Amino acid sequence: MRGTLKLTKEDKEWANSVKDRDGRKCVICGNTERLNAHHIIVRENHETKFDIENGLSLCPKHHFFCRQISAHNNPLGMFMWLETNRPQQLQYLKIKMKEILKC
Ligand SMILES: [Zn+2]
Repeated sequence: MRGTLKLTKEDKEWANSVKDRDGRKCVICGNTERLNAHHIIVRENHETKFDIENGLSLCPKHHFFCRQISAHNNPLGMFMWLETNRPQQLQYLKIKMKEILKC
C-alpha cells in the first residue's frame, strides 16, 4: 500500500477479507510477502470500495512493477489475466461498472 494513504478500520477489514479469500498469497505468482489488496475499480469509487469482488491480492511486483502483468504498470495485462483466470469476478465488475459509474 502506498505510504501516503491513511487506512481506516473498514479499509483494513476489506483488505483482510480480500487476502483471506485469495489464500493470503499473490493471485498471479503465489508470493506471500508484503501482500497488497488491490482495488480493480479505483478506491475513490465508494460503491465498490468495500466490495470484496473488487479486490485482488497482489505482491508489490504484480501490483506496481511487472511489465507483463501489473495492476498499475500494465492494466491491460491484468485485464487479460482476469479474463482467463477470474471470468466470473470480471463479469460481476463489468455489470457493476455499467450500473454505477458515470462520467
Ligand atoms: Zn505476484
